[in-house]
Amino acid sequence: MNAKQILKKYLSEIKKNDKSGKKINAFLQLNPNAIEEAKKIDSKKNKGKLAGKIIAVKANINVKGLNASCASKTLENYKSSYDASVIKKIKDEDGLIIGIANMDEFACGSSGETSVFGPVKNPQALDLISGGSSSGSVASVSADFCDMALGSDTGGSIRNPSSHCGVVGVKPTYSSVSRYGLIDLSMSLDQIGPIAKNVSDSALLLSVIQGKDEKDSISQDSAKLNLKEIEKFPKNIKVGILDLEIKDKRIQKLIEDKLSEASKNYNWKIEKIKIRNIDLAIGIYYLLIYVEFFSGTRRFDGRRYGKKIEDVVGPEVLRRILGGSEISKAEYHGRYYHLALKAKKLIEEEFAKAFEKFDCIISPTVPRLPHKIGEKISVEEMYGYDALTIPSNLAGNCAVSIPCGKIENVPVGMQIICDKFQDGKMLQIARSFEKL
Ligand code: GLN
Repeated sequence: MNAKQILKKYLSEIKKNDKSGKKINAFLQLNPNAIEEAKKIDSKKNKGKLAGKIIAVKANINVKGLNASCASKTLENYKSSYDASVIKKIKDEDGLIIGIANMDEFACGSSGETSVFGPVKNPQALDLISGGSSSGSVASVSADFCDMALGSDTGGSIRNPSSHCGVVGVKPTYSSVSRYGLIDLSMSLDQIGPIAKNVSDSALLLSVIQGKDEKDSISQDSAKLNLKEIEKFPKNIKVGILDLEIKDKRIQKLIEDKLSEASKNYNWKIEKIKIRNIDLAIGIYYLLIYVEFFSGTRRFDGRRYGKKIEDVVGPEVLRRILGGSEISKAEYHGRYYHLALKAKKLIEEEFAKAFEKFDCIISPTVPRLPHKIGEKISVEEMYGYDALTIPSNLAGNCAVSIPCGKIENVPVGMQIICDKFQDGKMLQIARSFEKL
């Protein structure tokens, strides 16, 4: 099939099940020029690496001419005037953007329920949350509305919904993918990354978007992903299994069973590993997020873009703005934010030590199953969803969530964390699990 045919197949699926039928609500906007763009791709002689791949983009990434609303009333009518660097790279390789995906408002959330345009349903379990904040990106892949998607991950927003919806979601090493054109949640943690139906496709998309970009001063070059290498089987792998009790023992067991299967089949060595201070991760994370998000949102004052943020946002975004404003008051200088940065460093060092001994660290992606859409859970419970994903954002490592099985018919993800700039090895290990 050519790009136009593939696109049409997906568009008809979207028509059937996004706003009607199953009412997944994954998309906020479809690309009105998609068919024209597909035709152009099909007529090219020399096609790029992503020709024929149909891609959804989270609503906090700028795609020229489309609406980067961040699923908020604040930017409801904001039309992007430029392409984010990742989008430019995708277009250069003939990837086709099918539309803009729903998300938690300003990426603040773990369930996909804080979007002002309504929650995203989990395509694998329709009455449950999809997870968040890259809810629409993940659901669009899981519902077979597209081949792949871009999300952003600050504390787990790619991996958490990928786990709940049964797809592969990658948080690349911090700074290895340009963030130019991302409307960020936290400058010291955010990372754009790929979501796909399998490891090979996510590696393909990552290979296109990674690399240094002069428009993002913190971005760095990493070893280019070798897609052939990822298909090969890694030898002598030493796996650390995270020694941390989670409440839902069924999830723990699923992961452990998968690991023993791998160790039997591949002769991998497995050992338990404790990461000190990991229990502080949520506290450290939210302190940093509140302050950095508050500071980042000062540009949404209603004069330059859209509406004044405080006037129109939902309770979770407001909580972070008010909390961040309080913590960053002059009289608290150095007391909280800088302390959190120091604690972040400690976690980073713990992981660095662990990776002297292990090739990867494995854990469940999310410590619990997703709740019912609309079910009231406490703020602490909501923040708890990310207990196992946040640590690698604090450390800056790469991490991936891959499907590991189901409990009560709900997908459960396994997380594989590797050292900084070991994204290739991580995907190779992930691919080996996929082959089991
Ligand atoms: N759920 C986390 C939060 O609400 C993570 C968000 C994200 O990774 N963008 O902050």
